[in-house]
This record gives sequence, C-alpha cells and structure tokens, in this order.
Amino acid sequence: MADFPLIFEKSKPGRLGAPPPVCDVPGQPLTDLLPRDLIREPAALPELGELEVVRHFTNLSHRNYGIDTGFYPLGSCTMKYNPRVNEAAAANPSFTGVHPMQPVETVQGCLRVVHDLQSWMAEITGFSTATMQPPAGASGELLCLLMIRAYHESRGEAEQRRVVLVPDSAHGTNPASAARAGYRVESIKTDAKGLTDIEDLKAHLSENVAAMMLTNPSTLGLFEENIVEVCELLHSCGAQVFCDGANMNAMVGVTRPGDHGFDCMHLNLHKTFSTPHGGGGPGCGCVAVKAHLEPFLPTPVVAKEGDAYKLEWDRESSVGRVHAFFGNFLMNVRAWAYVRAYGREGLPEIARHAVLNANYVQARIRSEFPPAFDRHCMHECVLTAKPLREFGVRALDVSKRLIDYGFHPPTNYFPLIVPEALMIEPTETETKETLDAFCDVMLRIAQEAKENPEVLHSAPHNATVGRLDEAYAAKTLDVKWNRNPGSPVEVG
Ligand SMILES: *Cc1c(COP(=O)(O)O)cnc(C)c1O
Repeated sequence: MADFPLIFEKSKPGRLGAPPPVCDVPGQPLTDLLPRDLIREPAALPELGELEVVRHFTNLSHRNYGIDTGFYPLGSCTMKYNPRVNEAAAANPSFTGVHPMQPVETVQGCLRVVHDLQSWMAEITGFSTATMQPPAGASGELLCLLMIRAYHESRGEAEQRRVVLVPDSAHGTNPASAARAGYRVESIKTDAKGLTDIEDLKAHLSENVAAMMLTNPSTLGLFEENIVEVCELLHSCGAQVFCDGANMNAMVGVTRPGDHGFDCMHLNLHKTFSTPHGGGGPGCGCVAVKAHLEPFLPTPVVAKEGDAYKLEWDRESSVGRVHAFFGNFLMNVRAWAYVRAYGREGLPEIARHAVLNANYVQARIRSEFPPAFDRHCMHECVLTAKPLREFGVRALDVSKRLIDYGFHPPTNYFPLIVPEALMIEPTETETKETLDAFCDVMLRIAQEAKENPEVLHSAPHNATVGRLDEAYAAKTLDVKWNRNPGSPVEVG
C-alpha cells in the first residue's frame, strides 16, 4: 500500500523511542555464553521515535473493522458484543498471575471457576458434565468423536463402526473432524423444509455407523424439528449423536440438546458466552457429555471433594488430552462472570432477542432477498440474492457494496446448498436503529442492482483495497517486508 509506508520504511538509523537504562552490571561477550553457530545477527528492527510508533499503530487500527466500530452480521460466527466488565474480570492479576503447575491448594479459586462452569454448562445443555479443555469448536468436535470411538471400542464395536454421517448443510469443520478422527464421512441430504431428510438418513443407517454430527439450530438458521426422531433412529442402530452447538446462542435457557436425545455436544464460549473471537483464537470449545461418555473425558478432570477442588489425572479410559492443562482458562473467567451476571432469567432473554432480531431482518428485506427456506428462523437468517442474478448481480457484489455503506458483509455462499447465500446473524446486542439502518441499505443495494449494477460490480469504492483475487493472494503469499524491493521475497 503505497500510501501507507511500513514501519520499516519509516525507520531512520539511530532514532530512539526511549533511552534504555545504562547497564549496571559488567557486560559479557555473547561468545563466552553461547556457541558461535547459535548466535544470530542483530535483528533488523525499525528505529523510530515513540510518537511515530504510536501513530503508526493507531492509524493501522483505524483501517480495521471490528465489532467495536460497527455492525458485524457474519452468520454462523455470533459476532456479538461482549461486555467489557468480563474483560476486567479476566484481566484480574489473581487469574492472570497463576501457573498451571502450581500446587492445587494455591489455585482453589481458579479450579472453582472451572468446576462451576463444568456444572453450569452441563445444566444449560442438559448433559451430566462438561470439560472446558478444547481450545476451539473444531477441537471440541474432534474430542467428541474420539470419545465416541472409545465408547464403541469399550463395547467391542469400534472395528465395524467406520462411518460418520454429516448433513450436506454442515459447517466444514464437521466432515474435517470426522476425517481427522479416521472416519469415512457420508453426507445426508436436506429436505424441502430445510431439515434433515429422514428418508435419506434411513437409507444410510447401518451397524457400520459410529455417529451422526448434527448442528442444531442448523447452519440454515432453522430448528431441527425432527430432532427427537433423528436421535432415536441413530440410537436404534447403536450409533451415537453429536450436537454441533456453535449455534447455542439461539437456545440458551430455552431448550436443551441433552433433552433432545444427543449424547454429547460442543459449545463455543467464544461465540455464545462472552469471549471475543476472530483471528483464530484463543477460544474454548467446551464439551458436554451424557453419563455413558464420562469415563472417556480428557484429563485432568477438575473434581470436587468436600469443599476442596482437585485434579484427577488417572482415569483409565480417558482419551488423553486435547490441549495443555485446562484449555484457555481466561475464557472460563469471562463465561463465569457472564453466566452469573445474566442468570436463569437473563440467559433465555438473550436467546429470545437473538431470534427476534434475526426474524426482524428476514421480514424487513425478504421482498428483495427471500429466505432460502420460507420459515421463521432462529438466531440467523439464510437469504438468497438469486433474484438479482437477472441483473448480473451476485451475492458477493451485494456484500462488497455493503462495505461502501459502512457495514461488514454477512457470510457469503454458505451453507453450500443455498445458491447466492447471504447468511445474516444480527445477534441480540444490536439496537432496532442499527438493524433498520442495515435493512435500509440492503433494500437500497437491491434497487441499485436493478438500476446501476456496475456500481455493485466495482464496489467497494472507499476501502483501502478493492477486490482481491483471493485465490491468487492465498497462493502467492506476500506478507514479508522486503529490504531489497525487486528481488523475490522468500516465503516460509
Ligand atoms: C464456528 C463453528 C464451528 C467451529 O468452531 P471453531 O471454534 O471456529 O473451531 C463449528 N460449527 C459451526 C456451526 C460453527 O459456526
């Protein structure tokens, strides 16, 4: 970006931010301490004054778009606002200053946070207990499949059960986790109402099925009305049912996957329980299980004995660990504070508002962007920009144009089974004014598509960069400063 020099390009040799204190102990040459081949050249760091550094990074941050700057309706991601008070709790030195290998007597408060959450998450989801160890949703999925495999092994059926069923609307992590756990994935169709196709499911059922992975509410933003029947069908052939609970924001305190018949599930604290997310983490893909899967939980298990909390490392049937120690512990602190703040009355209100907001958006713009399946939605609506195809306009053009109006685009082209998909998740934390402003802009863009499609094709017009060739950008990464422009940059 020619208009925005890199910090290296602003560097002037000898310029200092703050003078380091004079060394008051005798110096020693590095060569006395380390073998020569381990000593590196001094790092080529930029040299600048403090104010230049402050301005550089402040200006860079203004080029970013985040939930703190505007509406962020990225479907399937639950980009809701996370109360700052929970950040304050997580920043408390009593939590940030501990070490995972401290004697348990000295970290009883931290273990209580984990233990409380294990039981609250189990209560919220309708399971018997939970583990906070997995650091992401995908990791929670993998853990559930490993536990399901261990369960089948304990019954002598692991050899025969090689198949995991995944709906064709599923998030990409589902088939990926199943393949990673060594299973063969078979895809289950979606029916005309947007639900699991029961006939297709029946056709896939056999003694070879280990599990089904089902998202509820589905990635189509719809509640699986057949869920009890689906679980019964799988259990009748000895298979287990995993719930992808990334969409739990629609149901917290209202209904419980454990009651629907699932055997285990994951939750994303970084979506539903007040942890900011993006940029790959850190997160927490908490996993809740029914009693028959408890022996397989990862260790250490945080348990309570009398008034004291302890760690159980020796569990014969445990699948082992999916992350060091207790996972990303500070996510637990945020979630603990959040659950305590909202409580039994407040949590279901959150879910109801998330659902109301999504239905409001769907109703307001459906004349131009009809729902993929014409039903009330849950916490997100999956609409289609297909009617604009006749004007040569695609969902991507609509999204790029939204940037011109100051909105983050919704999720595009997912779920894969919906042509020209626009997946909008407004979340419960937005006001009616914000939702209206977004809907007004969407309707205006539809109008522009009909009258002046070119303005959409060339959007965005006011962003730092226009349309990138994403495949080219991903394949020919150029992310390193090149001291000698013109010569190729090494990647790797
Ligand atoms: C976000 C999401 C996941 C994966 O969660 P990560 O924490 O990103 O690994 C899985 N399934 C669904 C439906 C999701 O929305």
